[in-house]
Amino acid sequence: MHELTGRTALVTGATSGIGLAIAKALAANGANVMLDGFGERAACEKEAAEIAEAHGVRTAYTPADVSKPDEIVAMIDETERRLGPIDILVNNAGVQHVSPVEDFPVEQWDRIIAINLTSAFHATRLVTAKMKERRWGRIINTASAHSLVASPYKSAYVAAKHGIAGFTKSVALEVATFAITVNCISPGYVWTPLVERQIPDTMKARNMTHQQVVEEVLLKAQPTKQFVTVEQVAAMAVFLCSDAASQITGANISMDGGWTAA
Ligand code: NAD
Repeated sequence: MHELTGRTALVTGATSGIGLAIAKALAANGANVMLDGFGERAACEKEAAEIAEAHGVRTAYTPADVSKPDEIVAMIDETERRLGPIDILVNNAGVQHVSPVEDFPVEQWDRIIAINLTSAFHATRLVTAKMKERRWGRIINTASAHSLVASPYKSAYVAAKHGIAGFTKSVALEVATFAITVNCISPGYVWTPLVERQIPDTMKARNMTHQQVVEEVLLKAQPTKQFVTVEQVAAMAVFLCSDAASQITGANISMDGGWTAA
């Protein structure tokens, strides 16, 4: 019997990086987990099945595209149908595009706002009524150090992440008396495919080598000079689901090696 035994979690962007680590950690603590995200369907279903097998919980996989509100509705329905009412919602799916604002492709702006911000609104609005009825819930949004500070050439991402931090606080106040907590975790640079993929664009935008981007852009911001690990972020998500964290709500928890302290 683990602390989250019998709870149902939905994690968006759970086929890679931080979301996958959170899904695994919630399962390891007893939760049944719906994993959402992109990837080769058979491989994602296999991953979900392996997590279930390893931890003796139930899991499922959905390829729902969270940039599409109707797919979010279907994802919530499918999760409830297959795993039961959602106790833990982790809005984690996120994408990045790096470009000076004057060249920023309009479709990239719309895509980033839709995935990194608006999707959390839709998923949250669809789960809170039932969480209120059951008088328990955890909503965890993966924000970023970029919810507190900015970097150049990431206007859409920084706007979306500042937005998610505000959204988190507002909803936290609305549901505070129902034993539902709403928080965001704000990692600095975590070594995941999302970070790896933005290196070539940053090299171009700043005229730098690969090594210069890692040392002078990414880790420059982080006083510890180390990347955050996905396991560390996942452990924070599990803690936020625990009873010990029941009075933490509306918080923006930095895990950034000191970046935003500077
Ligand atoms: P990642 O690229 O490894 O994973 C992103 C996940 O989101 C994948 O599962 C992908 O399939 C999914 N996804 C993308 N678009 C989607 C869509 N339209 N619908 C459904 N799923 C979609 O990235 P990551 O680094 O693990 O990032 C996860 C979250 O953490 C993001 O919100 C990101 O902004 C945030 N974050 C990452 C870092 C970092 O340094 N890696 C730092 C701070 C915050």
